[in-house]
Amino acid sequence: MKVLVIEDEKDLADIIKQGLEENAFTVELCNDGEEGLFMAENYPYDAIVLDIMLPTMDGFTVLDKLRAKKVKVPVLVLTARGGMGDKVRGLDKGADDYVVKPFEFPELIARLKAIIRRNKGEASPLISIDDLTIDINSRTVKRSDKEIKLSSREYKILVYLALNKGRVLSRDQIAEYIYDPDHEHESNIVDVYINFLRNRIDKGHDNKLIQTVRGEGYTIKGNR
Ligand code: CA
Repeated sequence: MKVLVIEDEKDLADIIKQGLEENAFTVELCNDGEEGLFMAENYPYDAIVLDIMLPTMDGFTVLDKLRAKKVKVPVLVLTARGGMGDKVRGLDKGADDYVVKPFEFPELIARLKAIIRRNKGEASPLISIDDLTIDINSRTVKRSDKEIKLSSREYKILVYLALNKGRVLSRDQIAEYIYDPDHEHESNIVDVYINFLRNRIDKGHDNKLIQTVRGEGYTIKGNR
């Protein structure tokens, strides 16, 4: 899951990024409102973490402009302690939820996951595709009730496919999703990881869930 964090306090932004990455999110940071708005309008994110007091454009204005443009990405607002007015105003302007600074990290994660699920129309934390189930909260993956251990990158790709089940994702989309700017990546990295995933998810099953769409990319789909 890919999250844009718009927060100008560098230390806090770095902590949020690190914590989210440890929870298998892909994170992009942005430290001012105008740039944040540009990114949110032009790139696909599963959610946005939005601070209110920001240089160049405050969080409320960012939210206003996003919703005015019908960008429906779920937004979690960070508000200052005691800023009750901020919470109400944020929710009023189309924020999906808020956390109050200073916050406990597990709360941020739980709320973020909840707004992403709500937005995807997944009421429960389970995503299922035939006999494959992914529990977003506990990060457990099972096929036919047997638990499957995945590396963090395999898990990310699987969740990305599953949240878009039935839709074809191109290699570029997947590569961008798992891209780690600190490492050079091989051009075939997506194929490599898809192969790993297939070995773990589909090997030994007649019903193959991960499918190659020639010339387009990959998709995951089942019969139910
Ligand atoms: Ca701030």
